Amino acid sequence: MSSPLPCRFCGTPLAHTLVDLGRQPLANSYLTAEALAAGTEQSYPLHARVCHACFLVQVDDVVPAEAIFAADYAYFCSYSASWVEHARRYAEAMAERLALGPESLVVEVASNDGYLLQHFVAMDVPVLGVEPAAGTAEAARARGVPTDVAFFNEATAVALAARGVRADLMAANNVLAHVPDISAFVAGFPHVLKPDGVLTFEFPHLLNLIEQVQFDTIYHEHFSYLSLGTVALIFADAGLRVWDVEELPTHGGSLRVYGCHAHDDRQQTAAVTRVLAAEDAAGLRSLATYERFQSRAELLKDDLLVFLIEEKRRGRRVAAYGAAAKGNTFLNFAGVRPDLLRYVCDAAPSKIGKYLPGSHIPILPPSHLREDRPDVVLILPWNIRDEVSAQLAFIREWGGRFATAVPALSVVA
Ligand SMILES: [Zn+2]
Repeated sequence: MSSPLPCRFCGTPLAHTLVDLGRQPLANSYLTAEALAAGTEQSYPLHARVCHACFLVQVDDVVPAEAIFAADYAYFCSYSASWVEHARRYAEAMAERLALGPESLVVEVASNDGYLLQHFVAMDVPVLGVEPAAGTAEAARARGVPTDVAFFNEATAVALAARGVRADLMAANNVLAHVPDISAFVAGFPHVLKPDGVLTFEFPHLLNLIEQVQFDTIYHEHFSYLSLGTVALIFADAGLRVWDVEELPTHGGSLRVYGCHAHDDRQQTAAVTRVLAAEDAAGLRSLATYERFQSRAELLKDDLLVFLIEEKRRGRRVAAYGAAAKGNTFLNFAGVRPDLLRYVCDAAPSKIGKYLPGSHIPILPPSHLREDRPDVVLILPWNIRDEVSAQLAFIREWGGRFATAVPALSVVA
């Protein structure tokens, strides 16, 4: 038997499972008809563990980096209207709170196509994006957002600092959970941050994953699942500290953590104390909480399977909506195939005509629902359930009902 893997933050051997989701293909590797026929789909163990020293929840790093790159086709954040709006509100709030102006500098790490920094540019606040994908960096420059093509880490940060780059605000939103070497990533920030500068990180909150059994937010490219308590440890290790936090509704419940240099004399806000206390009350610093999770995830899986089988036996037809990563983790854990779930509808032209990884369920345009008139539409991205059920309200014309499987099976007319 091989020795346990070390924690990707503190190095402690990982001895405790959060949830073992079996072998799964990459959650974003949608298949063309040709790829499906070729039968060459790869799958990898998807096993989340918790470190008993720092309580970082993490998935085993078992997928070759080139396979992740091949699956993560260039994603342009600007294609999502709700993300651009989230970014605009962020930029306005930060410009006001930190009194940013023409003498300031905002640096965003993993700045994508400039969807966020463009809002600072519009307010005459100088910006610099750091983005590893050349194609998205080019799109950012085309909209007037200066962007370096680089992976951000301590070495990159030292090079930026040597060039005189000093930031009043550094943003890394929805990046922290996706970097394999979390310590080297965070260690870069103190080099670029001005002595009184502020950084903000956004990430899905582990508290919601645990409390609402969001096991389907676990996938191979999402390396770390973070609580405020663990982020505070990671910050301290890098010479930083947490001084404020906000709770956001994005991704089923996220945190926006505000950091500064450890020596900065900013007051820590009451929100930090409140969120840390909520994490303690939910048992996030107790191993027993994590050890119960596998059976809670299996209960949700079993409930969905029983429901799908019962509907089939009664001659009712079930379709799904939303070809999202989280749906793939759930369907593949449950072993759902097209005999139980005939197709999934999605509005993204890049996905229509393809097949979900693992389950091989075909992806059809939303208009197909009107032709097929299914009895039930299972909404896979439960975090946008209200938005989807409003868009698809027409299924009620033929008595169609909506179902979601997280945090518990729910079927509503
Ligand atoms: Zn650890």
